[in-house]
Amino acid sequence: AAPLAQAGVRTTCAYCGVGCGVIATPDGAGGAAIAGDAAHPANRGRLCVKGAALGETLATEGRLHYPAIHGVRTTWNRALDAVAEGLRRASEQHGPDAVAFYLSGQLLTEDYYVANKLMKGFIGSANVDTNSRLCMASTVAGHKRAFGADIVPNCYEDLDEADLVVLVGSNTAWCHPVLFQRIEQARAGRGCRVVAIDPRRTVTAGSADLHLAVAPGMDGVLFARLLVEIAERGALDRDFVARHTAGLDEALGNARRIAPDRAATAARCGVGEADLALFLDWWIATPRVVTCFSQGVNQSAQGTDKVNAILNVHLAAGRIGRPGSGPFSLTGQPNAMGGREVGGLANQLAAHMGFAPEEVDRVGRFWQAPRMAQGEGLKAVALFEAVERGEIKALWVLCTNPAASLPRADAMRSALKKLDFLAVSEISAHVDGLLDAATVVLPAAAWGEKDGTVTNSERRISRQRPFLAPPGEARPDWWQICEVGKRLGHRHAFDFRKPADIFREHAALSAFENDGTRLFDIGGLAEISDEAYDDLAPVQWPLPKGAIAGTPRLFGQGGFAHADGKARFVCPATPSLAAQPAGDYPLILNTGRVRDQWHTMSRTGLSPGLARHCPAPFVEVHPEDAGRFGLADGGFAVVSTPHGRVELRVVVTAGQRPGSIFAPIHWTEATAGRARVGALVHGVVDPVSGQPDSKAVPAAIRPW
Ligand code: SF4
Repeated sequence: AAPLAQAGVRTTCAYCGVGCGVIATPDGAGGAAIAGDAAHPANRGRLCVKGAALGETLATEGRLHYPAIHGVRTTWNRALDAVAEGLRRASEQHGPDAVAFYLSGQLLTEDYYVANKLMKGFIGSANVDTNSRLCMASTVAGHKRAFGADIVPNCYEDLDEADLVVLVGSNTAWCHPVLFQRIEQARAGRGCRVVAIDPRRTVTAGSADLHLAVAPGMDGVLFARLLVEIAERGALDRDFVARHTAGLDEALGNARRIAPDRAATAARCGVGEADLALFLDWWIATPRVVTCFSQGVNQSAQGTDKVNAILNVHLAAGRIGRPGSGPFSLTGQPNAMGGREVGGLANQLAAHMGFAPEEVDRVGRFWQAPRMAQGEGLKAVALFEAVERGEIKALWVLCTNPAASLPRADAMRSALKKLDFLAVSEISAHVDGLLDAATVVLPAAAWGEKDGTVTNSERRISRQRPFLAPPGEARPDWWQICEVGKRLGHRHAFDFRKPADIFREHAALSAFENDGTRLFDIGGLAEISDEAYDDLAPVQWPLPKGAIAGTPRLFGQGGFAHADGKARFVCPATPSLAAQPAGDYPLILNTGRVRDQWHTMSRTGLSPGLARHCPAPFVEVHPEDAGRFGLADGGFAVVSTPHGRVELRVVVTAGQRPGSIFAPIHWTEATAGRARVGALVHGVVDPVSGQPDSKAVPAAIRPW
């Protein structure tokens, strides 16, 4: 690809939610030298191996170069006409809810904004969901229940300033490596302690001061006991609780029922009483405590309750939004947060608004939208079940592959064939199960070619800037969506010339009729010039009109987003697994990531250096289970569930709990034969968030 610049370009890493700043210097031959950006507050110059290897992933072999209809190259005009016609026909013949978009946490905020605007304001359905549903929807729901809005209260500096960091369901060392480096620096420099709560002895857990190998699904019992002991041992912040919260008594009664004493708690959690006591003592005695949580919490049939169990203890102790102190969701994807800000979930409208009639009216007036969706759309799993039933007729998938990554991925692959019309915007020419089913394929610009913004886990908006020209005729996603919007007759609403135009509208909507009660307010950027947008330095929202700087912390002095300004304690249900291992499926399958790969490897798979860390797919098995099922370390096994089967190399390790196995999510047919772990995952979802449970799936294993 042709370089767009000679000097270093400041941009943001393509992968995890840490959102590290990167300086990319094109080499003039289609590649670029990659370095950490010392001026970016998220990473201060650090990069993990994935980020450092971004330069190895820029080759354009294997990319889609041209639009195609039914596999035959065509012009952009014809392809966009076909997309508009496919959406229009389905909407006219079957109603707007027969149309759906499925997006990605790797899209830029500007892409996400116009996709949601088109679907929710102009097609007239809220059937626009995203693979962020698989990532952190339970955190969104938990935040909204407790705080009244989807707000992360703290910032990364709190990890530097904490005296205790608790990592729940988070292999931070592998999945958020630069944050882990910051935590390690705090350990070395200030003696910060680390507790890992995880069924597996991950690299993170192995390095922690204390590892609680909690039984799958029982994290909520631990935090219920912690809430009880905070109250009984005089650690309540009574002033904070009285002035800024509601519902503590009910939550305490509920917690006492779930975790009546230490012995019962330790037994249910499968941890030693001494370890449990140490955790409780450390947490209660340490005012500067940050509890980080990630997919082990979110990807659960009780994920929202788990999030609220964690938020409850921080509210009770008043340890929130203060230096070194607060609950902290670590986002999986680079722009899951930005997607949430523009309403990138089927149950949200733009700018953190929902489907209350006055909010639908407000967004509709701002957009001058002729056909506002009046209620929530289908969340990812339900949306694809509607595809399976033939109720969704036209689907546009951008920047993700549901045929590999959704639960019951084999069934999803078959379901795609039931669509009357499928458009796919994609960078890669090799996407298992998706491109073959597509009516129209649109070549998308990739990282390094795209221009826009992302928001990381600490609410920090950063620029992604282009430094290479897209190959062939590839074009950005926002442009594709706007062109279809114009072809559907909405030129006035989608006549954006560049990402800065979209960003200004997004910022203006956040401030529109906002009396300060909607905390997502970036009105201070609503009139940003093109030049200032190009130069925009990383900044944390809220940034209302007139503000001269972003906002690192929220809620330390209350000010929650519920109408009375108070946070809510929540009463989680009694922790239990949605599906128990039994009969033909006697084990619990846990799925996750490895250090050097990302999602389905469409980018990281291009780097030979990254492949060396974990060259092939595997399943981790405890020695007792290896003996029980006749498995040998280094041999091969068939892992199966009622939904599919895969073939994986066996790794026997005492780091697994007996009765549990672990397999990473990254490999597909294109990279490793029958290793697509998404095919094994059941379609069970959290009832509040709709997030699938991919951490506790009943499964079987046998030698292959
Ligand atoms: Fe990229 Fe995350 Fe690594 Fe930072 S920690 S370089 S954002 S993958």
